[in-house]
Amino acid sequence: MNSPLILALDFSTEREVWTLVDQLEPGVCRLKVGKELFTACGPSLVRALGARGFDIFLDLKYHDIPHTVSQACRVAADLGVWMMDVHASGGRTMLEAARKALEPYPQRPLLIAITILTSLQDSDLVTLGFGCSLTETVQRMARLAESSGLDGVVCSAQEASLLRSQVAASFSLVTPGIRLPDDDQGDQKRVVTPVTALRAGSDYLVVGRSITRSEDPMKALAQFNSLISGARSTAV
Ligand code: C5P
Repeated sequence: MNSPLILALDFSTEREVWTLVDQLEPGVCRLKVGKELFTACGPSLVRALGARGFDIFLDLKYHDIPHTVSQACRVAADLGVWMMDVHASGGRTMLEAARKALEPYPQRPLLIAITILTSLQDSDLVTLGFGCSLTETVQRMARLAESSGLDGVVCSAQEASLLRSQVAASFSLVTPGIRLPDDDQGDQKRVVTPVTALRAGSDYLVVGRSITRSEDPMKALAQFNSLISGARSTAV
């Protein structure tokens, strides 16, 4: 199975990573290395996970001046990652510089943009001084990312159906904040189930704690993949 599941390895030690990853095959999920794990274990672990055959999403959410971000993207591409991300709020020049830095790679990593973090809600945007609603801001960010040549956005599945109708079919929607119906929501404000996310038009589902912190991670992973297969077969 080529699962759309991206498993967030939000750990701070290699031991925790390998305890989980040793039980996985590349077909069952892709792997996401974020700030916690990258800060703790660095590029060597990213390379080691890639060498096991996994597609790696390097989720470092770059947000800086265009030159700095483009150089960081180039170095990330040298690690052989499958996907990386930047904040759309870095603006068009930054997004285009990041995209251009990846041009020379024959197997170019996918470059996606963060719209609005799924831990935020409308009231947070007011506090931050954003003049538009969360939904309007997410749409603006997605349009900016697409017109800057990026491959997709990270967004809440709750926004996916709206975005799906506004962007090209090839523009990927990557959605975190996914939970099984009975799971704890944690700090995520905008959560949905995997089936709802796929029906809304999500291409990739990012799942962390629902699997990694469950009593039986392999069972939880199988449950996600079985729900995903079910949703896909009823869609055709
Ligand atoms: O544990 P949980 O399933 O909430 O993990 C979600 C993962 O997705 C975390 O690694 C988090 O950093 C990431 N993420 C997110 N919201 C975004 C982008 C990434 O939750 N907008």
